[in-house]
Amino acid sequence: MLNYTKQFINGKWVESHSKRTIDIVDPSTEEVIAKIAAGDEKDVNYAIDSAKKVENEFRKSSLYYRKQILLKISEIYKRRMEDLKNAISMDLGSPISKTKAAQVEVGYKHFVTAIQMIDELKFKEQRGNALVIKEAVGTSVLITPWNYPANQPATKIASSLAAGCPIILKPSEITPLASIILAEIIEEADIPNGYFNLVNGYGNEVGELFSKSKNVKMISFTGSTEAGAKIMKNATSNFKKIALEMGGKSPLIILDDQNIEENAELAVMKVMSNSGQICTAATRTLIPENMKEDFFRLVKEKVENLKLQLPSNTESEIGPVVSQKQFDKVQFYINKSIEEGAKILTGGTGKPKGLEKGYFIKPTVFIDVKNDMKIAQEEIFGPVMSIITYNTIDEAIEIANDTEYGLSSYVLGQNLDTVRKVAESIDSGTVETNNISKSLTLPFGGYKSSGIGREWGDFGIEEFLEVKAISGYFTTH
Ligand code: NAD
Repeated sequence: MLNYTKQFINGKWVESHSKRTIDIVDPSTEEVIAKIAAGDEKDVNYAIDSAKKVENEFRKSSLYYRKQILLKISEIYKRRMEDLKNAISMDLGSPISKTKAAQVEVGYKHFVTAIQMIDELKFKEQRGNALVIKEAVGTSVLITPWNYPANQPATKIASSLAAGCPIILKPSEITPLASIILAEIIEEADIPNGYFNLVNGYGNEVGELFSKSKNVKMISFTGSTEAGAKIMKNATSNFKKIALEMGGKSPLIILDDQNIEENAELAVMKVMSNSGQICTAATRTLIPENMKEDFFRLVKEKVENLKLQLPSNTESEIGPVVSQKQFDKVQFYINKSIEEGAKILTGGTGKPKGLEKGYFIKPTVFIDVKNDMKIAQEEIFGPVMSIITYNTIDEAIEIANDTEYGLSSYVLGQNLDTVRKVAESIDSGTVETNNISKSLTLPFGGYKSSGIGREWGDFGIEEFLEVKAISGYFTTH
């Protein structure tokens, strides 16, 4: 049993004032594998004071210095990738052979991209005789979810340090092990005390205290739309800056000139990977009505061939979902969809045979789904795919946009003019066409209830900057 009762504050591991702990459960065995601190108000205030003390010196630091800090962190991160992989496979339950590429390496790339983008960003700009200056907003709190425990914190840490903001990381209380390793990495990088702090604890306790604090200048949050709404409300205590990355109900549109033999597997993996616990999961697959029968056959075959096994098994493609709560939520949606009239193509309620222990779910596909059903409107966050048919491209676009969310979308087609027309018509922060994955230098974030602000690359750094205009007779030198 691992015991992490300490917080990392002001450059040191200090015993949490609360003395309370949170159990961390391995979702594939349902056994408690670690305990972490459940921080309290004293921990929160100590971390905020430590960050606030160094706000000015860090804001004034040179870009060269910040690049050096990020470089050191990235080098140590690279060395600790195996540890990160093992930790995530344990507390998230993600398949061991997929975790490094899908979860850990992306975090490393965020550090490398931030270093590169510091040089692209205009921190000082001349407009006529005036200056426009972008400078660090100050003490920032990074609140992260459980589904990508290394790369979600990594992108926020990289951007905020590149901007020159002292930070406090508050990771998910369900998958905190990777963040503890991240704190060890930053400790080893030996950056000044207070620049980076880690406070573990519950969202509705320490998360709320951070959001309400008048000494916090910025909250960068990734998580559910409900928690994002609370943070936005609490942030009005001092009208702090907020960046919110929240839920999604992303459509994947297959156009009628597309070869579905080649794309059925892609459509399946876009929703089933990470047991469907992906904010950008393509949970609504839109297929032309006249292609549906072949597509159903192919999807059924692919889903039934998925290797659902213990995460420690190197053959495993899909592990359990993260918790009992998440298991119950997914079961609720499967039952609700049946009640609403959707038909099961494969999967269903209950646990898969041979995997009765652990939070395993049968990968499930629904057909005859109407876009106004709960299954098509609400984020399930599990291995559940809904297939919706359409007759015209305009109808496909209308269905794609008929959602409160707008995080991601996907278009597959041969005719690039049509692909582009569809991509430009969808209300979402990102559109991936023909499976060409997004560069980390591109902005990432959502329209509508999916979020406010953008992460990654220069857009991510900008979130942590304030803009100042100085009129007069000046030059940038
Ligand atoms: P969650 O909202 O329950 O928790 C996320 C984080 O917020 C945790 O650290 C939690 O402790 C904290 N938190 C909870 N309530 C809080 C409050 N009142 N004040 C301050 N902090 C609070 O989300 P989750 O269940 O960990 O993650 C799943 C959700 O995250 C899904 O909805 C998913 O779509 C979303 N997500 C979005 C993105 C994105 O980039 N848009 C990426 C990954 C996950």
